[in-house]
Parts: sequence; structure tokens; C-alpha cells
Amino acid sequence: MLTYRAAWVLPVASPPIGGGVVTVDRDTIVSVGAYRGGPVDDLGNVAVLPGLVNAHTHLELSWMRGQVAPNASMPAWAASLMALRRSVSHEPPQPIADAIADARRCGTCLVGDVTNTFATFEPLRESGLSAALFRELLGFKAPDPQAVVRAAQDQIAALPPVPWLRASIVPHAPYSVSPALMQAIAHASPGRPLSVHLGESIQEIEFLRDGSGEWRALLESLGVWNPAWTPPGRGPVDYLDELGLVDARLLAVHGVHVTDAELARLRAAGATLVTCPRSNRWTGAGEPPIDRFFASGVRVAVGTDSLASVEDLNLFAELVEVRRLAPRVPAARILESATLIGAGALGFDRELGSLEPGKRAQLLAVRLPSNCGDVEEYLLSGIQPADVRWLDS
Ligand SMILES: [Zn+2]
Repeated sequence: MLTYRAAWVLPVASPPIGGGVVTVDRDTIVSVGAYRGGPVDDLGNVAVLPGLVNAHTHLELSWMRGQVAPNASMPAWAASLMALRRSVSHEPPQPIADAIADARRCGTCLVGDVTNTFATFEPLRESGLSAALFRELLGFKAPDPQAVVRAAQDQIAALPPVPWLRASIVPHAPYSVSPALMQAIAHASPGRPLSVHLGESIQEIEFLRDGSGEWRALLESLGVWNPAWTPPGRGPVDYLDELGLVDARLLAVHGVHVTDAELARLRAAGATLVTCPRSNRWTGAGEPPIDRFFASGVRVAVGTDSLASVEDLNLFAELVEVRRLAPRVPAARILESATLIGAGALGFDRELGSLEPGKRAQLLAVRLPSNCGDVEEYLLSGIQPADVRWLDS
């Protein structure tokens, strides 16, 4: 047993405790609270908080870092990403391992990792970083959706069991997955989180409205346009709802272009909206209305997206952007988004996301300045890896 004392302890599930203590027994939190005497490991002027949760990234794209230039049009950006990806035969492992190490250094304990190849499985297994692994499927013209899903299920079944890695099958986006494949995927991993890129670009809204625009042109140029597809004539959340995918399992990633009514629908369903503001700017998707997300009452989690559309996987850096776009949201809510809500959406909230007895002791200590003031606000101001360390129990 070991008791840490710190200038601030942030359990997330309850208010910050000045001069608080956390007692751990090996990898498990035993208690969190006010200091009542007894021997402690005094950490000094730091904030102790749970490891952060990056609810949306694609670690296998880490080799693309800096190679897909920002673009004002998301379909154009995606086209250059796809062209670059076609230039390699497989996703190189070293950039994945480096990205995982970087994410750890920046205080991340859990990721929602989208993969088309499972190239990230071995590097994640070796790293100890927890992950919901989203085996993503695409197929706008998929003649046999069940066969595609079965093949992915076989891939998952062949993975060795690792307690901190949990795989499920997910669709990419409404403009790249046929309705039938979307529904087959929804039934493929019952009870598991279902992550979908949703309402990311304005061109997606146009495509769903009448089947026109840049996504249509891209599908045609790739030879995967399906002339039998009927545009739903509605927004992305309503479209997914019609297909039966809007429920508490859903992680609606991005949501830059969803209406207030759609946010209300996500909220009512208990779904989670995952915002990745730095990536949205890079890809030309636009600025996410994060103020509106929080005002709607929907559960909001935070992700970085991949190194193809963001400078680094430092979730603290993402929080600077969240704060800029949502200046009126209490800092405590934003920190909850970056920890407990992300953990819940990824299916890990029994063990991660907050400092509570029985949870895993993935404790982060962040060095504070002498004149810190509001500790929660300070944590949104751009924490650098040099100020972050993990507490080994
Ligand atoms: Zn993504």
C-alpha cells in the first residue's frame, strides 16, 4: 500500500481536493480523499488525476505524420490520404510504437483506436496502453455485407486475448458504407461500442440530402458508387437512427455539421459525441460547435484523430482547442469529457476514467506553477509532456 499526497487531487467523479491523498495497492486504487494524518509520499505542487482518454485516433496512420497537407475541402483531403496510403503495402510498425509512446508520455491511458488492418494490435499489446480497437469496414457497393462482417469477426476471433485490448467492428461513415453493411455491422458486436465518423464535413450533409457533391464524385472516381442507393434526404444522425444505429453504444465522431435536433436525439439515446477540433480544422471540416454540444446535454468525449490530420497525440493540446471553442463550459466538464466520459463510451469506465476505489491506479501527476489559481482551468491551458509523469505504484 502506498499513499500519495498532492497539492490537488482530481477524482473527476467528485470535486477537486486541495492537499488530498490517494492510496493505492499495486495497480488498484484503495481510497481517495482528504489527508487525515499518517505517512505519505508527498508529491508537492502537482495535480494528481486519472490518465486521459483519447476517444478517437487511428494509430496505424502514424507514419503519415505531416504528409497529408491541410485542405479546405475534406473530400479532397481524404483523396490525398487515400493516394498516399495506396503507395505502401502495409502500415509500418515503428511509427505506431512511437505514437503510442508519445501518447503515454502526454498522459493518455486509453484510446479508441480505429484500424483497418490490426497493425496496431502487437504494438498496443507490448505497450500496455488500453484500447477499444475499432475494426473499421468500408463498402458503399458491398454485394455481400454478411460475408464482409464475418471475415472481420474471424480476424477478431484470431487475436490472442489481451485484457486491456477489446475489439469490435465499426462502420467508417455514411458516405462510405452502404445501408445494408451499416446494419450488418451494427449487429456484429452486440453490447460493444460502435464508433462512426458522423456529420464531419458539409459535403456529407450535401451527399445525404440529395446524393450529390464531392463525396459522390470521389466514390465515382474510385469505382465504388452504387447507382441503386437512394439518398435519405436527411441529416447524418437521423439517417443512422433510421438504420437503427443510434443508441447508447454509439460514438458519433466529429458532429461538426449536426443540428440541435440531432444533438437532442443523440442525448436522448445516451450516445456520445466525440469531438476532435484540431483535426476538423486540418481536414477542412470546419470548427465544431463545442459550446452547442455541451449545451445540448449530450455526452461529449474528446479525441485527437490521427497524425495524418493533427500535429501530435497530446490530448492536453486538444483540450486547449476545446476550451477556445467552448469558453463558457466549466473546466470540470471538459476534464470529465477527457477522462470519465471517454472511458464510458469506450466501455472501460469500470476500471479507468476517474479516481475511485476499485479502479486501476493509472495516476497522472501534472506539475503546477506556484501561482496556479484554478487548477482545473490550468489543466486546459496546454500541458506539455515535460510536466506530466505517471505514478508507479
Ligand atoms: Zn477518424
